[in-house]
Amino acid sequence: MKQNFLGNFTQQEPIPEEGIQAAIDVMRSGRLHRYNVAQGEAGEVALLEQEFAALTGAKFCLAVASGGYAMGAALRALGVGPGDHVLTNAFTLAPVPGAIAAVGAVPVFVGVTEGLVIDLNDLEAKADQADVLMLSHMRGHLCDMEALMAICDAHKIRVIEDCAHTMGAHWKGKASGRWGAMACYSTQTYKHVNSGEGGFLISDDEVLMAKATMLSGSYMLFDRHLAAPDSAVFAEIKYDTPNVSGRMDHLRAAILRPQLRVLDQQVENWNARYRKVEGGLRGTPGLTLVARPQEEHFVGSSIQFLLLDWSEDNINKAVAACAARGVEIKWFGGKEPVAFTSRYDSWRYAPSEKMPKSDRVLSSIMDMRIPLTFSVEDCALIAQIIKEEIGEIFTA
Ligand SMILES: *Cc1c(COP(=O)(O)O)cnc(C)c1O
Repeated sequence: MKQNFLGNFTQQEPIPEEGIQAAIDVMRSGRLHRYNVAQGEAGEVALLEQEFAALTGAKFCLAVASGGYAMGAALRALGVGPGDHVLTNAFTLAPVPGAIAAVGAVPVFVGVTEGLVIDLNDLEAKADQADVLMLSHMRGHLCDMEALMAICDAHKIRVIEDCAHTMGAHWKGKASGRWGAMACYSTQTYKHVNSGEGGFLISDDEVLMAKATMLSGSYMLFDRHLAAPDSAVFAEIKYDTPNVSGRMDHLRAAILRPQLRVLDQQVENWNARYRKVEGGLRGTPGLTLVARPQEEHFVGSSIQFLLLDWSEDNINKAVAACAARGVEIKWFGGKEPVAFTSRYDSWRYAPSEKMPKSDRVLSSIMDMRIPLTFSVEDCALIAQIIKEEIGEIFTA
């Protein structure tokens, strides 16, 4: 008898009790808006920002309404506006080109390698087309960050890191988000900490962060922040920076603070599950695992593998066969976007040139979430099911 898997791929862990209690306290106080604080009270949002700055090692941190909002604020702070070109990954998620389009700018897509990272040769080739790169560490894959920064520095390209999938990750011991001029995080339910919606922006650059803070809707209350630049920096920009409201509130911050304290442990929990799936998939005929470089300390909250040069029919069969046994795999490369889109050619508002080498990779990407509500044994069973079903279809 073949064994099926019965778990739910979108079931998250509960919010830690400490966070629930803190959220109740916020609600009892009635003070939910971040600038609504009692005499002498810092407020959950300002404390959260201080703690996230300490966690990442950044000088400044701003908590905002979403990851997408953080990206838009970063682009605006860097002065990107209508008609400007912004380099970004061909393999990413819709909110990334969306953030670029939202400021009236035009994405210039850079190809993807079989390692699922930005193609540095293609970046070099397109380096003269823009002076900002929105670098998406899509699905948690970090490229050679030293090589990337060398290219960008040489061409005076400023880098915004999209760390939606790399909170807790690093390259050669330096945290993801600490390489570029600014970095954006999401605290949305499907990322590494969960407040329903939410995001962070970090940077060491005081002018950029003062602008981002004004943009987020600080009015002239920026001195209530604990991880923002000095008031003197705001004096230079406060009359010239529009308010594009996107603040975080105390309720979400209260839920997030205890989650940040256990992030390192959560990363280990994810990676134990990731390694179990990866190990179980090794040797599956027709299936290519994505190699993870030594220098990369990743967060295995999802896993990708490639079905290179498979027919569309067989890929659909593989997805259906796994689904029939309870294993939810997404084909990121499908021509018609389903649920989430991740191919540059599905964003028709952003014209692009064909990239055949990237297209071969993109059309082969399979993706599976690894929620922490799965046990390590669950992950062994999941891998076994994928191996059996995909192996069978490939060898048929
Ligand atoms: C989720 C996500 C975002 C945006 O985050 P939201 O909080 O949902 O706006 C940006 N980039 C990537 C790669 C994402 O997966």
